[in-house]
Amino acid sequence: MDTFARLTDIVGADFASNRQEELYIYSRDSGAQQPRKVDYVVMPKTVEEVQRIVKLASEESIPITPMGGGFTTSALAVPVKGGILLDMKRMDKIIEVNEKGRYAVVEAGVSQGALKGYLEKHHPRLQHCTPEAPPTVTIVGNALILGHGHITSRQGINSEMISGIEVVLPSGEVSKVGSCSVSPYWFTRGPLPDLVGLFIGWLGTTGIVTKMSIRLFPKPRHRDALAFFTDNVDLIPEVVFEVTQLDLLENFFLWGQGKPDWMDHVFFVVIVSAQSEDELELKKHAYRKVFEQYEEVEFVEEIPPALRRRILDVPPFAATAADFKKGGGFEYTGAILHVEKVPEAWTRGIEIAHKYGMIYSHAIQVLRDQSVMFAFDYSFNRADKEDVERTRKAIDESDRLTLELGGMVWRPEVSAQKLMMEKMDHHTLELIGMIKKALDPIGIMNPGNWGE
Ligand SMILES: Cc1cc2nc3c(=O)[nH]c(=O)nc-3n(C[C@H](O)[C@H](O)[C@H](O)COP(=O)(O)OP(=O)(O)OC[C@H]3O[C@@H](n4cnc5c(N)ncnc54)[C@H](O)[C@@H]3O)c2cc1C
Repeated sequence: MDTFARLTDIVGADFASNRQEELYIYSRDSGAQQPRKVDYVVMPKTVEEVQRIVKLASEESIPITPMGGGFTTSALAVPVKGGILLDMKRMDKIIEVNEKGRYAVVEAGVSQGALKGYLEKHHPRLQHCTPEAPPTVTIVGNALILGHGHITSRQGINSEMISGIEVVLPSGEVSKVGSCSVSPYWFTRGPLPDLVGLFIGWLGTTGIVTKMSIRLFPKPRHRDALAFFTDNVDLIPEVVFEVTQLDLLENFFLWGQGKPDWMDHVFFVVIVSAQSEDELELKKHAYRKVFEQYEEVEFVEEIPPALRRRILDVPPFAATAADFKKGGGFEYTGAILHVEKVPEAWTRGIEIAHKYGMIYSHAIQVLRDQSVMFAFDYSFNRADKEDVERTRKAIDESDRLTLELGGMVWRPEVSAQKLMMEKMDHHTLELIGMIKKALDPIGIMNPGNWGE
């Protein structure tokens, strides 16, 4: 049997394809990266099917790339070296919500929207940390790339919320990692060697995660937003420090963009949440006091209702830069930066946008560890090749700026991975290579990411 016939035999004729019009869709994402070749798409339903596909890929030395929602915008789920695209969407069971233990166990294809809807219906007192991304993106894909969501400033990034996984290794064997390896409860990663780290940030190069347990959090009854603005970018590190000295916020982000004119400032947005109105008022009062110290920072007396709704929505506002141009292209590169580097990143990010004829758009989320995720947003017309090329250049320049400022590129496209590997301590690079080789000796797992 040839490869395609074997894949069809595993998942059924409806769930394997080598038709050009279907491969086309999987060969690109919404970002500006060049399309790349895909040979087969398969949509498994069970862990056993994933195992059989991985074994087939291993026997035939064919690359295999897992995909959740495929929405990183940096083309991380588009194969670099062709082969099999493993679309996980049919593995969409919410296996368990353990209310008192505050965790949910989901299959790899469960989307953010599906878990949110399920919790609202069956566990209205709980929530998960939801990224601003489209609701079709997966819980697993987001957590594995160290994604961030609407309560990240308070609770941490989503990879920190993983309390266990089930994974199909490149050998085709299934492993459980975390408390679920010794207990019926998927409630913690410890006290054990923390093997979850072998799969976070590896971009599918070490195994296919089939199930994941993630932490859930109390859902507050009341939420509100406060907004302030300044034109003095140099104030940012000090203001962020003072605001986070007060440990009462749910989320904290900064925002600014060239259009419309009223947004061309540095906005600070603090989201507070509480179980009672008194608690909410107290928190709002406390934050207003913090900002009152700064003469150059003004309070936004009334956030326009439509904007307020977008800010308080879960997921919150979709990056407005996505609306700047016709043609539907949107990519942002995320820089994990030291807060003191934000003023320089802000100013030089504007210069980069202008150099490539774009309207600047910056969105920054303050992370729990006091670093920030600085998003340089770019929208472009997908039908205009020159515009796409300009965007790639702007992304590349933003990535280089990130590294120059001592930062790291978050969910890096292949070229940014290379930039980081060039800068990386060579022992660290060797260790990455050793781990990949040990788990995937013939190099079938999403090759071309984190080295060959
Ligand atoms: C408008 C917009 C706003 C966004 N806002 C946010 C935001 O606020 N926060 C945020 O974190 N992100 C954001 N994103 C980026 C991105 O959409 C999300 O991070 C998204 O959650 C990624 O999940 P995914 O399912 O699309 O992952 P995919 O792109 O499918 O996969 C990501 C990586 O993980 C690997 N992978 C996927 N599934 C598996 C698996 N089962 N096993 C092993 N490896 C796997 C893939 O090979 C790939 O390397 C935004 C994107 C857009 C377009």
